Amino acid sequence: MGIAHLDAVVVGAGIGGLATALLLARAGASVTVLERDADPGGRGSGILVQPNGLAVLAGLGLTGPLEREGHAMRATALLGTRGSPLAKLAVPDFGPGLDHVLAVRRSLLHAVLLKAVREEPVIDLRLGATVKSADPAGCVELTWRGRGSVIEADLVAGADGVDSTVRAGGSFGTHKRVDRERYARGLVPRRGDDVVGEVWTELGLFGAAPVDRRTCYFYACATSPAVADALRSGDLPAFQTAWASVSPGAGRIVARLAGFDELLVTTTARVDCVPWHDGRLVLLGDAAHAMAPTVGQGANSALVDAAVLAAELAEDSVPVALRHYTERRRPAVLRVQNHADRLARLSSRSSPAARHLRDWTLRTTALAGSSTRPVRAVQQEDPVQLCALVTKLTGG
Ligand SMILES: Cc1cc2nc3c(=O)[nH]c(=O)nc-3n(C[C@H](O)[C@H](O)[C@H](O)COP(=O)(O)OP(=O)(O)OC[C@H]3O[C@@H](n4cnc5c(N)ncnc54)[C@H](O)[C@@H]3O)c2cc1C
Repeated sequence: MGIAHLDAVVVGAGIGGLATALLLARAGASVTVLERDADPGGRGSGILVQPNGLAVLAGLGLTGPLEREGHAMRATALLGTRGSPLAKLAVPDFGPGLDHVLAVRRSLLHAVLLKAVREEPVIDLRLGATVKSADPAGCVELTWRGRGSVIEADLVAGADGVDSTVRAGGSFGTHKRVDRERYARGLVPRRGDDVVGEVWTELGLFGAAPVDRRTCYFYACATSPAVADALRSGDLPAFQTAWASVSPGAGRIVARLAGFDELLVTTTARVDCVPWHDGRLVLLGDAAHAMAPTVGQGANSALVDAAVLAAELAEDSVPVALRHYTERRRPAVLRVQNHADRLARLSSRSSPAARHLRDWTLRTTALAGSSTRPVRAVQQEDPVQLCALVTKLTGG
């Protein structure tokens, strides 16, 4: 069966699900998107879209509003204890429009994808539709508008996040680990002297970037006792004092939080599956490979998954395409997951001696000065080829 005759259900309208729906629809499939949230808005404050994610969005013709609003970064600084520079991470120039990391509001990225999905005539978007079960024969049980129903599909793409219902319906050899690491995120008014990049402190990492002309996005490790206690007791001044005591730059940013409710606190998890398909079920994004956020590749990888899945389905029958999809994506993502775990451990060293050794090592290795290696190492696919692939697939 060619992709033009495929009836696909995509479960989840996060970044991964919306991109998958668009790619499948523009490649010729009929697509139903089922999202339990009646008003999904892209929670999570800000996001860093790397060249691999940008390549997929560019191939879909969606980067215009993101580039106009967002903040392009060609390099970011990594600072150590006391704010001393450890490394400058430069973005390789992969090709036109693919030479930067774009920091944007999540709500904007989500709105751009959702608008494109709404405008696609062959996509049936059902918001407030909760999937109860999905099985390898392609049978999806859901409730929508107070009524239960069943859809029979040729393909069911599980883009339903860390606690995926689609994953629970098949055999994926799943291992899920809930991590110790928690992160707090927020948006505050931007100032000219804001830190852009990351500071690795005794409380763990603190990162920040502008996401538009007026707004600064920050993310902060929330695992150390001082920060965890402040969050547990809803004590914003204690949260602000803790960060100010280890990094004046971080302190200045969190001082602009107007209220505790402006903080979004997330516990992270890692998901490992193999294979990523079972019968007509296939997984992508966090459902297949949730990872530590330390390399900023969770959503970017979901965008690459969407492109590769659609490309493989355009070439082969469903069983062969899903096998090729797992074979191409899983090893590449596994390397990134492992790297993200290493960075999570490295950035959260709490003993002064271990931090001193880490900082000295980073300062004196090849990373010193400016290196494009760390960003290049996590792209998984060549961004230029990825963009060309999406453009060809979607007739752009
Ligand atoms: C602190 C932090 C910072 C991060 N920064 C970055 C970054 O800079 N760059 C980056 O690439 N990644 C980043 N990430 C990771 C990124 O947020 C995730 O990897 C990404 O959002 C996953 O997208 P997804 O579409 O796979 O899943 P999700 O965003 O989890 O979407 C799943 C969707 O499925 C829906 N759903 C779930 N169950 C059902 C059901 N039964 N029926 C119907 N719908 C259902 C949910 O409502 C949701 O809308 C960060 C993560 C954290 C915690």
